Amino acid sequence: MYQKFDLMEFINQLVACEPRLGKNLIKAEKLIAKTLENNGLSYSHQPFIVADTPELAKEFKIKVPLEKHRTNNLLVGNLSNPKSILLTHFDAIGPGALDNASGVAVCLKVLVKHPDFTQDNLVVFSGSEETSPEKPVYWGYGYRMFEKKYGRLLKNCRAIYVVDCVGDAKLHFFQGDYYFRQAVPLKNLELVKYKTFVLTGSVKYLLAVCHTRKDTIAGLSEKYLEASYKELVSVCCLI
Ligand SMILES: [Zn+2]
Repeated sequence: MYQKFDLMEFINQLVACEPRLGKNLIKAEKLIAKTLENNGLSYSHQPFIVADTPELAKEFKIKVPLEKHRTNNLLVGNLSNPKSILLTHFDAIGPGALDNASGVAVCLKVLVKHPDFTQDNLVVFSGSEETSPEKPVYWGYGYRMFEKKYGRLLKNCRAIYVVDCVGDAKLHFFQGDYYFRQAVPLKNLELVKYKTFVLTGSVKYLLAVCHTRKDTIAGLSEKYLEASYKELVSVCCLI
């Protein structure tokens, strides 16, 4: 059955939820969950509690509540032996159109258009990537919570794709050390680094706007979003 999924429309909806650090995460999560449900896709929750740190406030010169909040990783797909694992996040610091409503939208489109993807693969929509109560890496907590419980899956899968900040330019696949500590803050990254790819558009643009008020939908292009989705489909061997 043909399922419609409009990348830009979804990004607008997610940005409108205003998921900022501890605020509105449940609202954003509900939007993703509703989209999955409407398309007959099932998911499970990995709940955890996160708190922001003074380091985060200092780096981005923002007011951080420094209080604990609940959030979830939404897990969609194979939880016993996935071939590919897609990691993406729905929390944000700025309006978050690029970082990372774009990545969430592209992953959702893969699921909606290729529901069979869930048989052999797994998508993790994390509710906490921008922040972490841990030091010195005060971000990426949700990914590490996933790693803590499902490290075996990360170790045994064939490929890990971190989908973060796409649709502003041509999609790049980063590997090696460049940009990894920021985008893949896993505890045991060394173990899986060889098969991990960070999918991002323009790093230059990303560094200019992410975590600022400038990260709006105006920086995204329908053409690049669609192209990023297609590339992700092709690397996951769905065509
Ligand atoms: Zn991000």
